[in-house]
Amino acid sequence: MYPKDIWRLALLLLFALALGALFQHAAEAVAVGALLYVGWLQRNLHGLLAWLRDSKHHEPPEPPGVFEEIAVELDYLRERHKKRKKKLANYLKQFQQATRALPDATVVLDEHGAVQWANAAAAKYLGIRWPEDVDQRITNLVRLPKVRDFVQEHADAQTIEIPSPTNPNRFLSILLAPYGKDQWLFVARDITQLHRANQIRSDFVANVSHELRTPTTVFKGYLESLIDQKHLCPPSWLPALEQMSAHADRMQSLIEELLLLSRLEREDKVPDPQPVLVSELLSDILKQGRVLSGKRDHIFSLEADPTLRIRGSRGEIYSAISNLVFNAIYYTPARGIIQVRWFRDDAGAHLEVQDNGIGISDEHIERITERFYRVDPSRSRSDGGTGLGLAIVKHVLMRHDATLNIRSALGEGSTFRCDFPPEVVVPEEGVPALAQRRDGAA
Ligand code: ADP
Repeated sequence: MYPKDIWRLALLLLFALALGALFQHAAEAVAVGALLYVGWLQRNLHGLLAWLRDSKHHEPPEPPGVFEEIAVELDYLRERHKKRKKKLANYLKQFQQATRALPDATVVLDEHGAVQWANAAAAKYLGIRWPEDVDQRITNLVRLPKVRDFVQEHADAQTIEIPSPTNPNRFLSILLAPYGKDQWLFVARDITQLHRANQIRSDFVANVSHELRTPTTVFKGYLESLIDQKHLCPPSWLPALEQMSAHADRMQSLIEELLLLSRLEREDKVPDPQPVLVSELLSDILKQGRVLSGKRDHIFSLEADPTLRIRGSRGEIYSAISNLVFNAIYYTPARGIIQVRWFRDDAGAHLEVQDNGIGISDEHIERITERFYRVDPSRSRSDGGTGLGLAIVKHVLMRHDATLNIRSALGEGSTFRCDFPPEVVVPEEGVPALAQRRDGAA
């Protein structure tokens, strides 16, 4: 207890005792004195509470003593809190000014994907206004299936490209980054220039390939006729003609593959997906594989679910699988084993092409799906290899929402696995039995 208050209580009780002793009721008088003191304390506590609640009142309440000290302490804390609040408000203002000035559209989303805050660029690029659109789901404001899937999957560390909802001639790259507790930063960057440059490059490659197609066909046709009528030309010309014809073949497949890649690049999705019975394609591709293997006599094995179908483009899937199987043949020495599996599990449908060939070292795996990337150009296939095969596989899979997984070890072999999500698997009644068929090299 505070000394001032001890003195105050002691004096009151002494006075009550003396007064009580005078009238022979000392104990009662002390009790009454104590009660009075309690009542007085109550009154002061109420005074203190009223002072605390009244933010404009600065003079600490009477009387001096412990109540005054409490009031002074509280007043000091209240002032400190006010200053801190002001400082934080200033920081917040500066942060908002800085993010408002950012050229990228920035939107803060809560855990349900609802808008909490947005900068000025968000209105320009996405049509999202703050504070008008607060608590509206971003998927209701930017109505694109791609954005809906992206936000639902909380796909951080990935980006998607979309046309701007406010201007279809502008292209945006969207990024979703985790932020604070259960919050997300939805950032849209204007990539119109980059998109245009890519478009020009892609158009240029497509146009050049297209223009080269006819002369190459003519050139190849004449060469073939000359080779067919070898009796008409000097025998010393024959090796040169055959070499020219092989290069014309290579040029033609390069042109065809470049045209195919340009077509695949043009759209993210297959325009008219149809059910594709992959086991049927596999039988055909393996038949061609055996012809390609020829004297190298590879051992083929095929395990395929005969009823498992996926929705997509038959031609594109054929092209992707044949690229993987033919690569396995090219990069596996004679009598090597090539195993192909087509199966389904909870994660979707999977196609696996495994070989025990030359393998690929880790540093190349990340890059081999790039156009014209070759691990060892001198070891790459001399006839027909364009360096575009895996780029085509990657694009075809992207258009089917599938991914390519590569596992390989140098000198031991490689496994290329295409993972198709459950959404592209055509539903079947009941679970089909896994049919197995194993056969050796023809
Ligand atoms: P290419 O026409 O050169 O085969 P691809 O795009 O099909 O072009 O393949 C790119 C590179 O990846 C090849 O040059 C080769 O180095 C490597 N590669 C692809 N498949 C295999 C495989 N099954 N085994 C070993 N290396 C492979």
